[in-house]
Amino acid sequence: MTDKQTVTIARGDGIGPEIMQATLAILDAAQVPLDYEEIEVGEKVYLSGDTSGIAPEAWDVLRRNKVLLKGPITTPQGGGYKSLNVTIRKTLGLYANVRPCVSYHPFIQTKHPVMDLVIVRENEEDLYAGIEHRQTNQVTQCLKLISRPGSEKIVRYAFQYAREHNRRKVSCFVKDNIMKITDGLFHQVFKEIDLEFPEFQGESWIVDIGAARLADTPEQFDVIVMPNLYGDIMSDIAAQITGSVGLGGSANIGDSCSMFEAIHGSAPGIAGQDIANPSGNLLGAVMMLVHLGLAEHATTIHNAWLKTIEDGVHTVDIYREGNSKQKVGTQGFAAAVIERLGQMPSVLKPVDYNVKVPQPAKREFGYTTRPRAHKDLVGVDVFLDNDGIDPNVLGEKLSAIETDALHLVLITNRGVKVWPKGFPETFCTDHWRCRFRASTPNNTITHDDVIDLLKRISDAGLDFIKTEHLCNFDGKPGYSMGQGE
Ligand code: NAD
Repeated sequence: MTDKQTVTIARGDGIGPEIMQATLAILDAAQVPLDYEEIEVGEKVYLSGDTSGIAPEAWDVLRRNKVLLKGPITTPQGGGYKSLNVTIRKTLGLYANVRPCVSYHPFIQTKHPVMDLVIVRENEEDLYAGIEHRQTNQVTQCLKLISRPGSEKIVRYAFQYAREHNRRKVSCFVKDNIMKITDGLFHQVFKEIDLEFPEFQGESWIVDIGAARLADTPEQFDVIVMPNLYGDIMSDIAAQITGSVGLGGSANIGDSCSMFEAIHGSAPGIAGQDIANPSGNLLGAVMMLVHLGLAEHATTIHNAWLKTIEDGVHTVDIYREGNSKQKVGTQGFAAAVIERLGQMPSVLKPVDYNVKVPQPAKREFGYTTRPRAHKDLVGVDVFLDNDGIDPNVLGEKLSAIETDALHLVLITNRGVKVWPKGFPETFCTDHWRCRFRASTPNNTITHDDVIDLLKRISDAGLDFIKTEHLCNFDGKPGYSMGQGE
């Protein structure tokens, strides 16, 4: 019998096997009490014909062991292959992606000597729902889904993380000046949850200027929480400006399972050459050890890594003449860390994961359940595929077939009003959003009213491609207004 915990290992593609070998050598040398169970995922599985990149049996292993240390995966281009990373994160409910980005001045060259921030990226929603359609000859769309429970979970996680790690502030990046409903919800949730954590004054940034500031003065940030896509982009930028994208580790945390990895990808251009920096994967493994309660081992390994960096033993991505002392390969770097197990950095700040931050009686994760809002159907947007039609002609045609329950109020093309009273200068594609509003005495309609309208549109020879219902929730519109509506 062994009381060791078992974690799942996936070596991954490209540089994955090399950086995983280096990482496991360090964990073994530090006598980390873990057993490993390996699964095969990624390129080989994809190319064997499984478009998910993971065999069904591997899910059993993942669910049994609950913790995965994963090398980067190559997603083959085209061919309908789905990103395995996104699939694992979403299938196992790993909603929080935690990406610390720290600079190691003066040992690793960076324009930003003072940088120690953590990006908490929402991991399951947003444009990563992967729901895309080509709707017309000219127009494609990708659905951006932001939910209240998803936003509450990630924002609460970010504040709780800040509390447990003694961080000083929490910032939120959104684009709610444009996406008022989706990013607006994320921002609203951020403001609400900020009130549950009175020791922090949350600050909000529009993502474009926030990104510019992050790239220019990262020292002004601490913990930053954001929706999935912004988090993906910002964390690569943040990792890169610490000195190399090869330095960042990352944790994907869910309620029952978790996955640890490097921030970077499989770097196929440098695979098999023993030159990749294993630090991102190793620091991902350190986060895993902390998560598993192996704080002492995590502390020993992280400090040995800091000492290695401080001693100027560098892989080629961070090696600079005059700054670095010894250029090493992937396995040479691992050997240097192993040599330094038990040593502390003298200039860089040592870590101590044994220090317990006082925990609140109740961990504030999760989301609140609320009563369902009262929903009224008050109209419908019907999207049409029509190439080259004059918007005034389309307006006349649709007005002629509107029903007693629904009347046409607006036509837009890519969101711009083209009827009534559009401008001839507005460029139009073959994709028209036609807004019908209830004209009933109580201003609400039924599904049958929508079906009746669609039947008339179809009978008029018009090609409808989708509908979106216009609903009021507790009396408030749950849809954006058209320009000039
Ligand atoms: P990448 O991160 O693999 O590489 C970007 C650049 O950084 C390259 O110049 C690369 O050589 C360098 N680099 C990355 N890691 C390094 C390391 N450890 N040491 C030294 N240099 C390093 O990004 P990419 O080229 O856009 O993607 C390659 C593949 O990785 C794609 O198939 C992509 O889908 C996949 N990917 C996987 C993950 C993941 O598994 N979590 C994340 C991102 C990308």
